[in-house]
Order: sequence, then structure tokens, then C-alpha cells
Amino acid sequence: HDSHYDSSCIFCRIARGEIPSRKVYEDEEIFAFHDINPSAPVHFLMIPKKHIPSLAQVGAEDAALLGRMMVLAPKLALEQGCNPYPDGGFRVMVNTGTEGGQEVHHLHLHVKGGPRPWLKG
Ligand code: 5GP
Ligand code: ZN
Repeated sequence: HDSHYDSSCIFCRIARGEIPSRKVYEDEEIFAFHDINPSAPVHFLMIPKKHIPSLAQVGAEDAALLGRMMVLAPKLALEQGCNPYPDGGFRVMVNTGTEGGQEVHHLHLHVKGGPRPWLKG
């Protein structure tokens, strides 16, 4: 929906392909791409194509969309190389606001996982 597009938002521009990214997944409502500065062996971001600034701005009308993103996260995590539950797994994180560590103000889920040999033994 173009009405939900913010041309000054880097993630809106990534979702539209105006800024290149390494795409993980795309459908009509959701876009996922690898984090440019990964902090885990698997680290990708999932965003709604609609510009929602943060989790603090979601409305009841967004519940189905957020639900779809959560249902999709484990599927994409496995596809991207996270090991299966329960010995493998991944983290889903949504930084929200300045004190929540949010730097890009377009709602995004961090999905992070992959082998962590330092935890074994
Ligand atoms: P935040 O702190 O807002 O939760 O995280 C923003 C994330 O977006 C960071 O992990 C950062 O590395 C990533 N990021 C910022 N700009 C870009 C970009 O232009 N392309 C990609 N692929 N990731 C980005
Ligand atoms: Zn945006």
C-alpha cells in the first residue's frame, strides 16, 4: 500500500527494492532480509511492508499481520540455517524506542540463531 510508504524510511525503501538488500522472503505484506551487521551466524530482519514506526504504534488492525510474522519466523529461521528446536533454536527480538535500543524506526523483528559452539559442552 503506497499510502503506508515513507520515502524517508530506509526499511520502506528496502522493502520496495529501492535500496538493495539480501532478501530472505517476500509476500504481499511482509519482507525479510539479512541484517547488514549480523551479530549471530543467522541474523535476519522481518518487516511489515506497511510503515509502522515501532511495536509501540501497532493497532488492533495489525494483529493478523503480526501474527503472520510470528508464524513465519520459525520457518524462515530453519531455512536460513538455524538448527531445529529444542537443541537448536533462535531468538526473536523487537527493539522498541530509544531505551529499547531501536535505531531504525520501522517495525522489525530480529531473528538470530545458528550454531553457537561456545555454549556446547
Ligand atoms: P534496531 O537497533 O533498530 O533494532 O536494529 C536495526 C538493525 O538494522 C541493525 O541490526 C542494523 O545492522 C540493521 N540495518 C541498518 N541499516 C541497514 C541496511 O541498510 N540494510 C540492512 N540489511 N540492515 C540494516
Ligand atoms: Zn518504513
